[in-house]
Amino acid sequence: MSILAAAKIIWGLGLVGWYAIRFPFERRVKRERVVDARSRLRERVLLTCSTLGLGVVPGIWVATGWPRFANYPFTLVQLVLGTAVFLASLWLFRRTHKDLGKNWSVTLEIKEKHRLITEGVYRHVRHPMYSAFFLWALAQLILIPNAVAGPAGFVGFGILFFFRVGQEERMMLDTFGDEYRAYMARTPRVVPGLY
Ligand code: SAH
Repeated sequence: MSILAAAKIIWGLGLVGWYAIRFPFERRVKRERVVDARSRLRERVLLTCSTLGLGVVPGIWVATGWPRFANYPFTLVQLVLGTAVFLASLWLFRRTHKDLGKNWSVTLEIKEKHRLITEGVYRHVRHPMYSAFFLWALAQLILIPNAVAGPAGFVGFGILFFFRVGQEERMMLDTFGDEYRAYMARTPRVVPGLY
């Protein structure tokens, strides 16, 4: 098997692994009553951007090789490094789901029994699930040697993140007030010690 074929398989396994982690939580949160939801339509548009960049565009490249003109050489170093970053991303993704539990939602929502989580991975950054998605985007960039499909994850998820994060923090401040203000003051957003 070529290393390029291996990269494609690893990308596919990553996608399956990601969904296997998320699926049980999707079922669990369905039963929670929502008391506040922000910018539903806008959220749908942002989620579409993210799905295109992290899923559809690389998926098309993996399945068909398109857009071929943008391909560049691939080495074993990229395969190993990309796989390692992908594993790190899935590990963090699982931790954030465990820590956030029933407070998690796909779009911006507050549940009836919402609790502010500040422990576990939430001790180090206040948006660790978004850190996990940025790690995924990085893994995609390293694993997919294509100038369009490789960086598509950063573009798609980056749009979701930058248009959403301010609104999410506004919603958390409206709900938890000074408790969230203090939490914001002691934690960076996604990268420990940096941002
Ligand atoms: N931004 C967080 C959570 C993503 S899930 C992260 O990247 O890890 C999005 C939902 O999580 C939001 O609708 C919000 O209600 C909830 N949320 C965000 N931060 C939270 C926290 N610290 N405690 C509890 N819920 C939180």
